Amino acid sequence: MPSRTGILLLVSGPSGSGKTTLCRRLADEQEAHYSISCTTRAPRPGEMDGRDYFFLSHEEFAAKVERGEFLEHATVHQNFYGTLVSEVLHRIEQGIDVVMDIDVQGAAQVRHCAHPQIRAALVDLFVMPATDRELEARLTGRNTDSAEVIALRLKNAMEEMSHWPEYQYRLLSTTREHDYLQFKALLLAERLRVRRLNSLATPS
Ligand code: 5GP
Repeated sequence: MPSRTGILLLVSGPSGSGKTTLCRRLADEQEAHYSISCTTRAPRPGEMDGRDYFFLSHEEFAAKVERGEFLEHATVHQNFYGTLVSEVLHRIEQGIDVVMDIDVQGAAQVRHCAHPQIRAALVDLFVMPATDRELEARLTGRNTDSAEVIALRLKNAMEEMSHWPEYQYRLLSTTREHDYLQFKALLLAERLRVRRLNSLATPS
């Protein structure tokens, strides 16, 4: 039996907040497993199936919904996104920490999901840019999306930002390095929680 149960570190925030970079870095440093989501949106240049997302057709996505394979799923920017139970459950039971980058609708579903182990593992964080102007600059600067897509993302970002009080933690983004330091500190602190220990015996 592992010495403790795994943490489910759920991260939300508007597009351009830097949350994906934070989650990916944690996984690259092997501090946590990155939960790969399913999506019906088309891959962006450089994205790989099975690494960035599982890219599915609408039919494939609907079949997984039907079979109850999703821990949560939602429509974001007119595409379907969802987290597979198989990406999360067995890992936290094995004491492996999992980091996931999902939207506010998905976060609400995870908080109320049917798996008590997942609810107990959950730590949720909202990442937001310091100002609206900064958010706009980050969204425009990405250069991988059309002006129409950027305008839709900005509108959605404003709506998404209103949900931050529903989260346990909030990170106001400054520099990449400082953001990551705070992010990792949160994970390290959560690892010390007594309720995650499988044995309450004092170490000898
Ligand atoms: P993008 O298309 O830019 O990669 O992601 C768009 C939005 O979808 C982001 O806010 C991201 O957090 C969210 N997202 C990615 N994967 C999932 C998922 O599995 N479930 C939900 N609910 N949202 C997701």
